[in-house]
Amino acid sequence: MEITTTLAANPTDDARLAEILSNPGFGTNFSDHMFTVEWTPADGWHKARITPYGPITLDPAAAVLHYAQETFEGMKAYRHDDGSIWSFRPEENAKRMVRSSHRLALPVLEPDDFVQAVTELVKVDQRWVPGNPEGGEKSLYVRPFMFASEKFLGVRPAEHVTFMVITSPAGAYFKGGVKPVTLWLTEEYTRAGRGGMGAAKTGGNYASSLVAQQEAYANGCDQVVFLDAQEGRYVEELGGMNMYFVFDDGSIVTPETGTILEGITRSSIIELAGKMGHHVTERKFGIDEWRDGVSSGRITEVFACGTAAVVTPVGSLKWDGGETPAPASTDLTMRIRQALVDVQLGRADDTFGWMHRIV
Ligand SMILES: *Cc1c(COP(=O)(O)O)cnc(C)c1O
Repeated sequence: MEITTTLAANPTDDARLAEILSNPGFGTNFSDHMFTVEWTPADGWHKARITPYGPITLDPAAAVLHYAQETFEGMKAYRHDDGSIWSFRPEENAKRMVRSSHRLALPVLEPDDFVQAVTELVKVDQRWVPGNPEGGEKSLYVRPFMFASEKFLGVRPAEHVTFMVITSPAGAYFKGGVKPVTLWLTEEYTRAGRGGMGAAKTGGNYASSLVAQQEAYANGCDQVVFLDAQEGRYVEELGGMNMYFVFDDGSIVTPETGTILEGITRSSIIELAGKMGHHVTERKFGIDEWRDGVSSGRITEVFACGTAAVVTPVGSLKWDGGETPAPASTDLTMRIRQALVDVQLGRADDTFGWMHRIV
């Protein structure tokens, strides 16, 4: 893919950038440039470009605004202590976007082009990748997304599609140390049904999760956990994070795929925990098994994972009329978390070959 680059005439000055990177928060500050490429059936992907970051013009009839034909990705670029910059398994995000786009009837962006777009943009905005001289967990969050930009209110796959990448510096997800999240079990809402789009990374899944998340807040919980739509019995995920259960014999279970979003953190943990000597199984996991397992002590740890938080221990689980206490331990959870963060930030050997050098 040939990319033309137009640099910002007035990039963020050093003092302001230093201020942003000292306390980046999440998703509020954006780097100086963005990547765009457009697609039509006649021309395929064309006009790949890096330009100054800024608002885009969209026709009010653009299909994405009406029918939500959209997919996205979430990944990070990490600065190692020697100044080099790396991404974590970017080809996995690229392949997942192909799968998501297939489900949303969007065109295929070749994984090589996806990785090139991310790599070139991060190179151009490399001064936006925060370092961690004092052992923190800052990174540059990278958000690739694809949407139906055709001006047309008929219902069919769009014939003008735009793919973009923007980036935003991110601080450590947990300020003041990792602490367990409490979960609300929603028995009213589900996030995905068989044959639906639960396995696709698409905005609609997030839109449908918001009301359940509000219910979680209203009940004093941090996050919501969804059950399967068919039987209301099996644990799926949090709507933005996948789940893991640790048993007292050291074995680990994670809900099987199909209606969950297959996280790259999730699949990395399957490999990592396996190498740490744990037996990991992907299977259906009943909500009763969770409640009973924590009460009996058979389940010693529960955790959730995703790019933003990496790994977070799960504390108590509440539902309408009941509550299960926090599992006994967070020991393995924290060791898995550390092992993953150490690879991402270059503090441990990348024995799996997961890191991709950008600068
Ligand atoms: C992105 C996402 C995850 C986590 O995936 P990672 O690749 O690990 O970041 C989990 N669930 C949903 C619904 C998601 O969209």
